[in-house]
Parts: sequence; C-alpha cells; structure tokens
Amino acid sequence: MPTTTRQWLLNGHPRGRGIVEDDFKLVETELPDPGEGEMLLQTRWLGFDPAQKGWMENIADYVAPMAIGDVMRGSGIAEVIESNGGRFKVGDMVFGTTGWTEHLVTDGKDLTKVETDLSPTAVLSVLGTTGVTAYCGLFKVGKPVAGDTVLVSGAAGATGSVVGQLAKIAGCRAVGIAGGPDKCKWLVEEAGYDAAIDYKAGDVKAQIKEHCPRGVDVIFDNVGGEILNDMLANIATAARVVICGGISRYETGSLPAGPQNYFNLVFRRASMAGFIVLDWASEFPQIRKRLEGFVHDETLHYQEDIQHGFENAPDTLQRLFSGKNRGKQMLEL
Ligand code: NAP
Repeated sequence: MPTTTRQWLLNGHPRGRGIVEDDFKLVETELPDPGEGEMLLQTRWLGFDPAQKGWMENIADYVAPMAIGDVMRGSGIAEVIESNGGRFKVGDMVFGTTGWTEHLVTDGKDLTKVETDLSPTAVLSVLGTTGVTAYCGLFKVGKPVAGDTVLVSGAAGATGSVVGQLAKIAGCRAVGIAGGPDKCKWLVEEAGYDAAIDYKAGDVKAQIKEHCPRGVDVIFDNVGGEILNDMLANIATAARVVICGGISRYETGSLPAGPQNYFNLVFRRASMAGFIVLDWASEFPQIRKRLEGFVHDETLHYQEDIQHGFENAPDTLQRLFSGKNRGKQMLEL
C-alpha cells in the first residue's frame, strides 16, 4: 500500500486575472494509516468545473474559503483500496469532493457509492453536478412549458448541452449559443437542438432574432456579459431568465456595468433569478435516476472530454476557460 501521495496544493488566488501555472504547487506528502472506520482511496478520475476558479479566489460564500497550501478542491471518483471497517468495501467506486490528490484517507461520510449501469464517469458528467444543475436550473427556476422557446448560452458545455435536451423532452424549442462551427454542428446533429448560434461568427443579436422569431420564453445563461445582453434584447412577455453562470466574467478584473438591456425585463414583465444547485442536494438521487432514464431511452446524449495524467490537472482546468473542452471536462489518473 502506498505510504505517500502526490497532491496539487493551492499556491495563489487568481483574483481579477486568469489562472497561471504558479497558482498550483505539486507536492508529495505522507499518507496516514486508515484509523478505525477509515479507508484508503485511490483517485481514478477528477471532474473540473468553472466554479473551481471562484473557490480559488474565495469570492463565493456558499463554500468554505480556500487558503494557500490547501489541497485543491474538486470532485472525483475514487476506488477503495484498503478499509479499516469503513462505510465502503475494498473495490467499491465512490464519488464526491476528493480534491486533487492521488490517494486519500477518509471516513467517506461525504462520499457516495457509484451505482449506475452507465460508465462510472457518468456520475461526474451527465449524472454529476453539471447534469443536475441543468435539471434544477431549467425546471425549478426556468419553469418551461411545452411550446416555449428556450435559449441556452454555453450550450455545448456539460451543463448547457443537457439543458437544451431537457427542454426538448419538455416539448420546447431549444436554441443554443456556442463557440465555433464544430460545437454548433454537434448541438443540432447529436444533441437535438433546433438551432445553434455561433457567437464567434458575430452579430449574436441578429442571429437570436432569426432563430427565435416569437421571442425567447426561457433564457438559461452560463456566460453573462455581451451574450446575456444580446439574449435580453429578444425576450418574450413573461420570460424567465435563469442565471446559472457567467464564465465570460470569471477572468476579468474590473467588471462592466450591468446589461444595458435589463429594462426589457420591465417592458416584457419578465423575471431574472440566479440559483446555486446545492440548495436541492436532497433531491439529487431522484434527479440522477431521471437523468439516467433519459440516457437509457436515448433522449439524452452527453459528451465527456477525458484528459490523462495527474500532472496535467492545472492545464485540464484551463481548458474550460479557453473553450477547448468537448462536454464534461475530466482527467483520468
Ligand atoms: P462547460 O460549459 O462544459 O465549459 C465551459 C464553456 O464555457 C467552454 O467550453 C466555452 O464554450 C465557454 N466559455 C469559456 N469562456 C467563455 C467566454 N469568455 N465567453 C463565452 N463562452 C465561454 O462548463 P460547465 O461545468 O458546464 O459550466 C457551465 C456554467 O455553469 C459555468 O458558468 C458554471 O459556473 C455554471 N454552473 C453553475 C452552477 C450553479 O449552481 N449555479 C453549477 C454548476 C455550473 P465555447 O467554446 O462555446 O465558448
């Protein structure tokens, strides 16, 4: 059994700037023996989320602050390789907030056993936080009804791709905004979106008008900034604007004033609301079952982007901010 483990530690708070190499430090640390009721776990996959940058910055108050020298916080799937009377048995796969570590000793109280007949990585992708975020944000906040037009930004990503497909299942028209022709092609041909808008091709506002001629009933925004402003320009009466994320602002220093088109909320009697998915944590097991059912009946497709090698964890996180990822960003150790 290993007596040491490699870990990535937080070494800088990237506030008002992009993440740099020096924000992380790779170290080798001693592993304690598992005490009574504890287990030794070996991490198999890590999952990556744009929110991790906010955790590094300590700007989010829905999670505990991170200090320099902390093991980088993040989700993972790990295998139990030794148990001293722990909750799970040797060979079990478990998932949760493992952190960026190759091994960990834990009582496992915040971890969940992987129980799916999809590939184990699905618990970090379509059944993971991003899948559940898509479900909660769309149905609990966006409240779509059949016939609505649902417009999604960051549409080809782990969260956005699930949102559009759930909207289709609910009988809506789904239009997605993503960067580049390949992602837009995937949205229409594989994910079943009715139309896709390439924001890198310019004039997003005109493209939205063309593809949403009756206005947008539900906006699901992952991006913020100019794209949110362009989406607000074309809302229908009583629209619901769901603020899930704002990745376009995660690396900027000084933030612009709010969206110029916010006053359309008044003209269109619309509402705008943000949410944190963790507020529905008690419902995650049932929501995962529903999502798994949609995958089985082939109404929900998902992409996983799996990079390799523990030493590549910082670079893998960066892929989210350059749009290199195709679907849920993960790393196999
Ligand atoms: P993701 O969408 O799989 O990956 C991020 C994508 O963002 C990239 O692939 C890229 O796609 C796009 N992007 C990056 N920089 C951009 C920019 N400057 N302008 C426009 N698009 C940009 O990531 P995810 O994990 O599913 O997260 C999506 C969003 O959901 C994030 O904003 C995240 O913070 C949010 N989120 C919120 C909650 C919650 O509880 N509220 C929970 C989970 C996630 P393109 O190539 O298309 O540009």
